[in-house]
Amino acid sequence: MIRPAICLVAWAAFAWLCGSWLSREAGWAVFTLGLLAVMAIQHRRLARVSHWAGNVNDPPPPIRGDWADILASVYRALRKNRQDMDLLERQAQGIMQAAEALPDGVMTLDDALRMTWCNHEAARHLGLDPSADPGHSIFNIVRAPEFARYAKQAHWDGPLLLRVAGDGRDATLQIQLIPYGLNRLLMVTRDITQLEKLETTRKDFVANVSHELRTPLTVLGGFLETLRDLPPEALSNAQRDHYLDLMREQTGRMQTIVEDLLTLSTLESSPPDDGVPVDMDAVIATALAQAQALSGGRHVFEQRIEKGLGVHGNANELSSAVLNLLTNAVRYTPPGGTISVTWERSATGGARYAVRDTGIGIAAQHLPRLTERFYRVDRGRSRATGGTGLGLAITKHVAMRHQASLHMESRPNAGSLFALAFPATRLVTANVAAKNQDAGADGHLK
Ligand code: ADP
Repeated sequence: MIRPAICLVAWAAFAWLCGSWLSREAGWAVFTLGLLAVMAIQHRRLARVSHWAGNVNDPPPPIRGDWADILASVYRALRKNRQDMDLLERQAQGIMQAAEALPDGVMTLDDALRMTWCNHEAARHLGLDPSADPGHSIFNIVRAPEFARYAKQAHWDGPLLLRVAGDGRDATLQIQLIPYGLNRLLMVTRDITQLEKLETTRKDFVANVSHELRTPLTVLGGFLETLRDLPPEALSNAQRDHYLDLMREQTGRMQTIVEDLLTLSTLESSPPDDGVPVDMDAVIATALAQAQALSGGRHVFEQRIEKGLGVHGNANELSSAVLNLLTNAVRYTPPGGTISVTWERSATGGARYAVRDTGIGIAAQHLPRLTERFYRVDRGRSRATGGTGLGLAITKHVAMRHQASLHMESRPNAGSLFALAFPATRLVTANVAAKNQDAGADGHLK
């Protein structure tokens, strides 16, 4: 402000000098001219400042004098503000991205329980459109009476389990409300459908094992009591032997169940080993001999085995799967039926082990469940032929551990086809396989 004042005084002095040399009017004219020039310059500067005010993101115009300092400090303050805003925005975005990356659904609610924001997982759980639904009351979004009761509580100590069905969905959600800030609520949702299924499977499994073991144990207990209570002379030797045979049968049954359970548990809990080349010709030949012994000449066996085709894997596991499909064919095919076994390359470059029978067959609704533990179409028939209901569960696990798939085709009274399809990456030539073949592979997993 000092510089313009000095200039003005200097100009006034110059005008006064002009006035004294020339005339009074000339002095005033010079002074007025000077004032007009100053006003014009200031007006121009103001116009440039006003233009810049509309584009404050650009650097200020080059103006000399005090304006330059003022504009520079305003520009500096604005730039700092912008940088702070950018930082805040980046931080906010980071928090939003982290919230989106959460495996759980997260939703924020205002003091009137209206949704203010939700991540995609929450939108997926509750079937909403995150961009369209903000502002809606949570009671319009989750229309379940039990949720309304839960949300209206004063405190939320635990989560609510909510079944959501419809729109092709059938899921169980765990919902937890958590207060934060000033009357705000965080709603966390988690899809526990799979967990719940696992828990049900676990409970069913325990119930099934208990049931499977209870029957032979009851029979065994009954015979033991009979033997203890009856006077020795009341039983002939033949009767006693008969009872003992029946008891041995029941203990054998329990032993088979426990062995199969241990096999399943090993397959489920241990990672697949590195594997060795396995000579499938030999594995299938051994299994065929065992199946023929089980059949006792009651079935016709056919085979088409491609020589020189091995699989890289675990010999015991493969033997068990191969034998299981064959013994099932024997057990579920009435006498006189035909059992055909094939082992050959498939068109896709892999190889397929298939067992086809002309047996009792299976109705379509049972097929998807056959590999469940203890699932049997006809419990009585399975037991009568020494089945545990675990064979196909074991076979499926073995298949998975060899990247193979288990296929089934069947129709009641029209026979069945069970096949294991191995990918090309698992195949080896039998020369190599034969060298590595575990001579003791007998279809039992250890
Ligand atoms: P199981 O010990 O009862 O045979 P699996 O797991 O091997 O148990 O088989 C499950 C069920 O699948 C059997 O109980 C039987 O009902 C059905 N099944 C398996 N293989 C055949 C087959 N070849 N023909 C008809 N039914 C079969």
